[in-house]
Amino acid sequence: MEARENVPLSDHTTLRIGGPAALLITIERPEELPKAYELARKRELPVYPLGAGSNILASDGPIKRAMLHITATNVTYVDDGDVVRVTADAGKDWDELVSETTSRGLWGLENLAGIPGTVGAAPVQNIGAYGREVMDVIARVEAYDPAHDSFITYANEECGFTYRDSRFKREPGQVITRVTFTLSRTPRPNLSYADVARRLAEGAVLDTPMAIAREMRDIRAQKFPDLSVHGTAGSFFKNPTISSDAFAALHEKYPELSGFETEKGIKIPIAWIMDHVLFLRGHTIGPVRMFERHALVVVADPGATAHDVEVLANDVAKRIYDATKINVEREVQSLQ
Ligand code: NAP
Repeated sequence: MEARENVPLSDHTTLRIGGPAALLITIERPEELPKAYELARKRELPVYPLGAGSNILASDGPIKRAMLHITATNVTYVDDGDVVRVTADAGKDWDELVSETTSRGLWGLENLAGIPGTVGAAPVQNIGAYGREVMDVIARVEAYDPAHDSFITYANEECGFTYRDSRFKREPGQVITRVTFTLSRTPRPNLSYADVARRLAEGAVLDTPMAIAREMRDIRAQKFPDLSVHGTAGSFFKNPTISSDAFAALHEKYPELSGFETEKGIKIPIAWIMDHVLFLRGHTIGPVRMFERHALVVVADPGATAHDVEVLANDVAKRIYDATKINVEREVQSLQ
């Protein structure tokens, strides 16, 4: 276990924004968690698990927290008939796991290729892309509960997964240590999304998990900013789900707006409104702007602050509300 004082979070978030955290505790093994919490308790600092920092807007001032970073990256594969149970440590880079499983010919994670972050963060917001949510392939999640100093294993149905949400997001406090996925040797392609269907129509051969993962990374690279070049946290807002009446009213006004039925209502691609109604691609306030190639993505220039991002995000949310009466929720998590 290693603990460092006053660590600038701008060095640990992909937006490259954030003031100094009181403590950054790095542990190699989940077994060290009780010790890490004991240290944080002694310092009277609430703990915040830090993965790749790819979904965090950290505030500019001092952050009175013990940030907790797990570096464990072990992955095990257990054959179970036609399926393979893959257990990965929380610190494993998400896209590395996708590369490893798809190169073994395993189906399940291919549509989720190219998403920044770690394995431990994936269940928290139930990452999803191109018709696959991580909840579809999660068998169980192992977590440490500091309140009871115990390790708990949650079966998939106990994780409370919904769209970009889970019990781990709604009730923070536990730290995910390992995730087990059920992957398949039997082909299970989902190539229905327009971006992917277009590639297929153009002649792309998408017959293996690896080929699909490669195509997904390529599609994302056309739309999402490169983290090595831009300060960004990917999609800043969630795509909202609205009532059928609200959708009907919007659709009457904007017949080209698509809507996708879900259990909770109609999910709409809010980027379409931002793009075609509000013309927000490239919308800039100070050193922060909505990305030119994807209106849902905030990009921060070097030196931008959390305050700068707040100003732009609030401005954009207000414009969306004025045009649609929808209160968009943020996908990016604020950290103070
Ligand atoms: P997109 O493909 O243009 O889709 C925009 C919205 O329309 C999303 O809400 C998407 O649902 C929905 N949608 C599109 N086709 C659909 C279909 N055939 N059936 C049901 N819903 C459909 O989105 P994008 O912004 O370019 O992003 C590409 C993909 O990456 C999307 O799937 C997006 O959700 C995902 N993504 C995920 C994260 C994350 O997990 N944190 C961050 C950024 C982007 P879904 O959202 O359910 O896909």
